[in-house]
Amino acid sequence: MADATILDFEYEAHTSPVAGADRAALLANPGFGKIFTDHMAVIRYSADKGWHDARIEPRRPIQLDPACAVLHYAQEIFEGLKAYRMPDGGATLFRADANARRFAESARRMAMPELPEQLFLSSIRELVSTDRDWIPEGDGASLYLRPFMFASETFLGVRPAQEYLYLVIASPAGAYFKGGAPSVTLWVSEHYTRAAPGGTGAAKCGGNYAASLVAQAEAIGHECDQVVFLDAAENRYVEELGGMNVFFVFDDGSIQTPPLTGTILPGITRESLLTLARDTGITVREERYSLDEWKADAASGRLREAFACGTAAVVTPIGRVQGRGFDFTIGNGGPGLLTEQLRQQLVSIQRGTAPDPHGWVERL
Ligand code: PMP
Repeated sequence: MADATILDFEYEAHTSPVAGADRAALLANPGFGKIFTDHMAVIRYSADKGWHDARIEPRRPIQLDPACAVLHYAQEIFEGLKAYRMPDGGATLFRADANARRFAESARRMAMPELPEQLFLSSIRELVSTDRDWIPEGDGASLYLRPFMFASETFLGVRPAQEYLYLVIASPAGAYFKGGAPSVTLWVSEHYTRAAPGGTGAAKCGGNYAASLVAQAEAIGHECDQVVFLDAAENRYVEELGGMNVFFVFDDGSIQTPPLTGTILPGITRESLLTLARDTGITVREERYSLDEWKADAASGRLREAFACGTAAVVTPIGRVQGRGFDFTIGNGGPGLLTEQLRQQLVSIQRGTAPDPHGWVERL
């Protein structure tokens, strides 16, 4: 088998169907996940050939046989990361190597072949360079990158597939929140859980998101913005939101976040904020925190702030928490000082306006 880490990408020539002026109009207000760039990266895997046939192609529909394995048993994983446009017209990526490692870990959990880290990174770099004109300008705007892989074998047997397709698509995204993040209200799901011990909670697989949708719908039904899940074993400890990790800020200036026990996603924003907080001399704990403690600490004032974090919205203050028979406010319900400080620190590194002591930012 050839060394799969150094595949050369073949280019399929393609003239953008979107004229420059039309693209500028689309990029002025892209929203999220609705418009897409001209190309996609594709790499194939088969048990006999390994990783092969790396291509940058025009973005187009994929044909699947109705017996395609992913449509039946959901062997699918994905990632989410962003490229930013720099003031000088260049592009940057933030910690793409961490996404590459998490993608490989997700693959292992789903009995899928691991894409070598270098191949993941070159697929991202090639696509961003090809579709560079699609990176929107402006504060908080970015090109959202969605690498994903699925079982493409035509076979109905329940076993790991022998063929996979890996793709990267890209979608220009506007600032998640214009003019600073407003506080969100969370709904505590006590009926649905997201992931059980030994399950797939730490993997970024599509099935986790399918399973979370009914709980998120329940949150919306109670006029809350997002659902927050408790642990499946005891239904007591705070885990994470449907698509974000959670942090608590206390009156002694310390911060706490649930530990990585295998049931929550190891967020790259979470890890970056833990590192920045430690750098700043903030006491950091990765420890379990129960819903009862959360209620009591919010009431006593020991809990000053809480926030959610993830690639999409970076840092989102949590103002209020509701559930069956309770409703409490954190601090004054608005964004807290430390939350805003950490958000600013991270965003400045991502946007290249602050020093990058950990080498997180890559220029393309
Ligand atoms: N938890 C879940 C369930 C998520 O989907 C995400 C988004 N990837 C996160 C946490 C945050 O992870 P990251 O900071 O790597 O975006």
